Amino acid sequence: MRRKLVAGNWKMNMTAPEAEAAIESCVDLVSLKDNVDVILCPPFLTIPKVRELTKACPIGLGAQDVFWMPKGAFTGQISAPMLLASGCSYCIVGHSETRGRFGKLEVPAETLCYFGETDHTVHLKIGALVAHGIHPILCVGETQVERDAQMTDAVITTQLEIALTGHDPEELDELVVAYEPVWAIGTGNVCDTAEAERVCGMIRSILEDLVGQELAEKLRVLYGGSVKASNAKELFSQPNIDGGLVGGASLDPKEFAAVIAAA
Ligand code: PEP
Repeated sequence: MRRKLVAGNWKMNMTAPEAEAAIESCVDLVSLKDNVDVILCPPFLTIPKVRELTKACPIGLGAQDVFWMPKGAFTGQISAPMLLASGCSYCIVGHSETRGRFGKLEVPAETLCYFGETDHTVHLKIGALVAHGIHPILCVGETQVERDAQMTDAVITTQLEIALTGHDPEELDELVVAYEPVWAIGTGNVCDTAEAERVCGMIRSILEDLVGQELAEKLRVLYGGSVKASNAKELFSQPNIDGGLVGGASLDPKEFAAVIAAA
């Protein structure tokens, strides 16, 4: 039986002082729940504050990205050893926003190359994370155009195959995969529950091929994309949806607490 997992992705929100107020209600609730794992993924500079605030409660700490080299002349980058030293045990990789695939275009199109994540760099990042004992939260999902062209399954299969092929399955024993349809992220357009369950089930069967049946049964597959208190319970009660990766709703302490309670 897989434990439910709710991960809050704060994206580029929350200074350290803002985090203090946001976390209080979450800390109390999580301390009372022993049947759901909760992770917060703050911006890099807010990680130390969140670590301090969650010291006495079982909230896991995650980062939103990592660079694959351990150190060196890579201006502006953060390495897996740095994340480990900051207390992170999880890290998001391949988020659609780092891939430059926005559900709602929030940046000028000519700057999209700045968000240049590829399946290959996702692969490298996973290698760096697992080498340091940090659990990757691998995001996969199709854009609206790909969905309209009925390419959802093919896009996700490619993303998973390139990200995971070549890694030792034993090192992936705490991998988390999040199905995040790009068109659902930050748009309020949540994926239909039956379709989310179908895709999460497909992800599990692709994982069977890539890491073996026993491990695939154990790994958690999350849904992400406009999850909020009002839709979380139905989504999380599906057999192949083991919780959620939550963006916008994780910034509102009451809403996030209600999502956790739904899990
Ligand atoms: C996300 O960014 O991972 C996400 C799911 O965002 P939102 O919940 O705001 O759609």
